Amino acid sequence: MRLICAVAVLSAAMVSPSPYGAAEREERIQAAGEAAEPFRIIGNIYYVGGQYGSYLITTPEGHILHDTGSADMHELIVSNVERLGFDVRDIRIMISSHAHWDHVEGHAAMKRVTGAQVVALGGDAVALQSGRDNSAIGARNFEPVTVDRVIEDGDTVALGGTMLRALWTGGHTQGATMWMTTAEEGGDTYSVAFRGGEIPNQGAPLVDNPRHPTVVADTQRTLRRLRELEPPDLFLHNHARYPSRELDPALPVDPRCATCLDAEGWSRLVAGAEAGFEEMLRGAEGQRDR
Ligand SMILES: [Zn+2]
Repeated sequence: MRLICAVAVLSAAMVSPSPYGAAEREERIQAAGEAAEPFRIIGNIYYVGGQYGSYLITTPEGHILHDTGSADMHELIVSNVERLGFDVRDIRIMISSHAHWDHVEGHAAMKRVTGAQVVALGGDAVALQSGRDNSAIGARNFEPVTVDRVIEDGDTVALGGTMLRALWTGGHTQGATMWMTTAEEGGDTYSVAFRGGEIPNQGAPLVDNPRHPTVVADTQRTLRRLRELEPPDLFLHNHARYPSRELDPALPVDPRCATCLDAEGWSRLVAGAEAGFEEMLRGAEGQRDR
């Protein structure tokens, strides 16, 4: 685990809805290891995540949290939200890139703290409710969490003047979702996409996979849609990128976002995903022929 900056030390005066005392809480944050400083990326979108990259979208009527990371990232994310000057209890809605443990394992704890409405799409909602990973790779399970709203492709989440639209990108998990919104900065409006997931993990069985029987068709559909989509101005990753890329200086974003924003762009990611999936399919054909 790479340590990219000094870990936050909590102010004793800072009161937060944590089940731990100050010392234990700090220990847990230290244990989370990777503690990127939280910062505003653009408009009302903030980076609050550590290792797996969580984003906070703020509004005058409460906030939306995108991805909660693994369970051991919980204290860090809570601390980062507070360091930005927001109250974690104002988080009203929780959304996710996809239902793998490293993005949603912290949902249950965050829901206990915030009482936020959990929103998820199709098969990812099933995974969250059951706590069982139902993606093609079958990664580790996580604490179940009640899903308050099950959405479909194209549905929106709206709060305090901000709207996010869900684009179903099933394949990496059954209900992987690319969330799309706009952000205002310097009098201009930018389209922003939060990466969901594109292709299954390496090694995931593609043929007769009982966890996700339609994984191949879903992935092909996802890749087709991504290729046809108008590229967003900003494309935020669901994992911090190391080493970070150089940012386009014309973009009005915090330079620290070099770890969370793909400066080389959308088309490169889609092309890479297509090539990767073709290779996986060739491997699957080889298995079938044997
Ligand atoms: Zn994943």
